Amino acid sequence: MTKLGVTTRQIHADRLLNQPTDGAVHSSTTNSVLFEFKQSQDLVDVFQGKKVGHVYSRSSSGSVVALQNMVADLEGGLTSVCFATGMAAITSTFLSLFKAGDHIIVSQYLFGNTRSFMDTLQDFGVELTFVDVTSIQDVIAAKQPNTRAVFSETIANPVTQVSDARAIGQWCEENNLLFMVDNTMTPPPAFDAKAMKASLILCSLTKYLAGHGHVLGGAVIDTGLFDWTTFPNISPKYQVADKAMWGITQIKKKGLRDIGATLASQSAHLISVGMETLSLRTARSNENALKLATYLESHPNIQTVYYPGLANHPQHFIAREQLANYGSILSFDLVPGIEPCEFLDKLELVISATHLGDTRTLALPVAPTIFFENGQRERARMGITETMIRLSVGIEDTDDLVADFEQALNSFSL
Ligand SMILES: *Cc1c(COP(=O)(O)O)cnc(C)c1O
Repeated sequence: MTKLGVTTRQIHADRLLNQPTDGAVHSSTTNSVLFEFKQSQDLVDVFQGKKVGHVYSRSSSGSVVALQNMVADLEGGLTSVCFATGMAAITSTFLSLFKAGDHIIVSQYLFGNTRSFMDTLQDFGVELTFVDVTSIQDVIAAKQPNTRAVFSETIANPVTQVSDARAIGQWCEENNLLFMVDNTMTPPPAFDAKAMKASLILCSLTKYLAGHGHVLGGAVIDTGLFDWTTFPNISPKYQVADKAMWGITQIKKKGLRDIGATLASQSAHLISVGMETLSLRTARSNENALKLATYLESHPNIQTVYYPGLANHPQHFIAREQLANYGSILSFDLVPGIEPCEFLDKLELVISATHLGDTRTLALPVAPTIFFENGQRERARMGITETMIRLSVGIEDTDDLVADFEQALNSFSL
């Protein structure tokens, strides 16, 4: 599938990669937990990794493997593992690869639940340094003798800081560190994590890939760039013959089989259907986001707009150089005196809801909801203002979105 364009590739991926039987264009949905073996020796061989197959659907099933093939192909990776949610992918990957005494350099701008999980990792004895990933100097300065990895998102939510992924990836390669990128915000073709030398790509399938707010899922993709033989935490049990598979084998065994946050096969099917239109949906939502950001910036009732596509964004230059588009998340502050919740209630089309990457445009007040637990000091460190409103821009007709904001904004005195 190397010569196909990105949209063609997405639409035909299931059929071409997985070759479902009977001419079906979708892989079938497996409803069995267990798998029968006519020859018990085959069961033994699959257990021991000498033969490929499924033994119990917590570890693998045909429908989930079909999605794993599609997700790996989308990111140009070697292989992938799917999980029940994006958080399950993140927590399972960290818990299977790191141990007490390791040090990880972590972005100080993280999805709230990921940030909260980082506290748990610290409680288990993993050392973390939170840094400003828009600055390679800050990343480099955090290195310690026990540093094993750098973990960052691409465009952070809600303030839209853009990490300097190219510089970080280069530095990680030179220093033989694992570079872990959460690419939920900028799925292909927006951001090519492998070209930025990411070792592992983490992703919430719930967001843009599934796209319709109807199913949860997550994935980790191994790009094949990292030399796992140099990573000290791979158990001898998982040092399989193919050295490129050491990392993913340990993540599958410890993270999926042992921790058990398995993706349901029906969910795998729903996600794979969503993925067929990924590039069409994000092309539209990116275009809408840029137009809305430009419109909002010009309105007298708006104080600040945060969107990497605007020329005054602090990382506009990095975004222009490292991303094919500027994403579909933008945030803004209203002028003082307009209450965020009062404003949101004036919107008629835009939905007040948490979630992002949906076909529908969604809005929420950030400080009292998704970052409430973090407290005001942590919010300030992340650049989050107390009045910030976050938008996940959908694929509606642009004029309808602008009209909805116009009527809501104009209902307050100018
Ligand atoms: C939503 C999100 C997650 C978690 O994904 P779920 O599927 O909701 O568990 C992780 N990282 C980022 C950047 C997200 O936006």
